[in-house]
Amino acid sequence: MLEPMKQMSTISLDGRSLAALLQEEERHYLSHLLNAHQLPKPKLCVILIGDLAASLTYVNTKKVACEKVGIEAEILHLEGQCSQKQVIETLQKLNKDPLVHGILVQLPLPPGMDTATILDTIDPLKDVDGLHCMNAGRLVLGDTRAMIPCTPKGIVRMLQHYKIETTGKHVAIIGRSSIVGRPLSILMSHQAWKGNSTVSLLHSKSENIQEMTQQADIVVAAAGRQKMVNSSYIKPGAVVIDVGIHRLADGSLCGDVDTASLQGIAAAFSPVPGGVGPMTVAMVVENVLTAWARHYKAREPK
Ligand code: NAP
Repeated sequence: MLEPMKQMSTISLDGRSLAALLQEEERHYLSHLLNAHQLPKPKLCVILIGDLAASLTYVNTKKVACEKVGIEAEILHLEGQCSQKQVIETLQKLNKDPLVHGILVQLPLPPGMDTATILDTIDPLKDVDGLHCMNAGRLVLGDTRAMIPCTPKGIVRMLQHYKIETTGKHVAIIGRSSIVGRPLSILMSHQAWKGNSTVSLLHSKSENIQEMTQQADIVVAAAGRQKMVNSSYIKPGAVVIDVGIHRLADGSLCGDVDTASLQGIAAAFSPVPGGVGPMTVAMVVENVLTAWARHYKAREPK
C-alpha cells in the first residue's frame, strides 16, 4: 500500500508581531538618544492631498506608529483641487524647516499632478519613502546612503527575521512598480544589500508567469490583483510574500494571494492583513529615525 504523502506545515510570517517588536526597539533607541543628548525630537510631515479613504487610513496609521515611538507626526491635508505649485511650495517650506526631519507625500496623487516632479522636490535627506530619484539611484548603486522604500525594506527585514535564505535563491516578483517590485528586485539581487538572489521581475507583459513562479524559491505577489496567486503558481516548499491589499465588500481585507490554497504546500506565507502592511509602517518609522540621526550625526537605528 502507498504511504500517504506527508503534508508540509505552512507557517504564517507574522508581520504584526515583528513590527511591534521593531517599534519597541525604535522607542528605546530614540528615548536613549534623547536622554543622552540635547536633541530636538524627530518630526515627520505627511502631505495628504484629497480625500481618498484608503490614503486617509494609511497616513493615520503612520502617524499613530510614529507617535508610539516618540516621533512627532503632522499631517498636512491639502484639498484635492489644490495646484501642483501649492504642493511644491509646501514641500520647499518643509525642506527648509530644520525641525522637520522626514517628509512623505501620500500616493497616489490626484490626476493631473506629476508624481516624479513632486517626489523630486523633497529634500532627498528627508525623503523617508525613498522615492526621490537620488535615493532610487543610490539604491541601484548599492550606496548605503540611500533611503530605502518602506515596503521592500519591510519585506527584506521580514525574510531576515525568519531566517529565510536569499543568497543563491530564485526570487520571482510579480509587479514592477517603483514603490514595490522594482526596488525589491534591486534589494534582493544586489550584493551590497546582501540579497544575492537571482530575480525574475514579472509584469503584465510577461509571458508564462506561472512557469517562472513555479521555479522560484520565494514568490512575491505585488500585482494588485485579488487572490491571483494560488497553489498552481508555486513549487512545494516555496515562501510566498503577499504585498497586495484589497478591501472586500464585507469590509474585510485580502491580498494578491489565495492563502488557503497554499496550506500544506508552501513553507511559509505572509498573511493579509498582518504581514507586509505592518512591516511597511515599521520601516516608515525607522526611516524617519534614520533621517533624524543622520541630520544630527547621531548613531543610526539598526
Ligand atoms: P501598481 O503600481 O499598480 O503596479 C502593479 C504591477 O503589477 C505593475 O508592474 C503591473 O504590470 C503588474 N501587474 C498587474 N497585473 C498583472 C498581472 N495580471 N500579471 C503580472 N503582472 C501584473 O501597484 P503597486 O503600487 O506596486 O501595489 C501592488 C499591490 O500592493 C496593490 O494591491 C497595493 O495596494 C499593494 N501595496 C501594499 C503595500 C503594503 O504596505 N502592504 C504597499 C504598497 C502597495 P505593468 O507594469 O506591466 O503595468
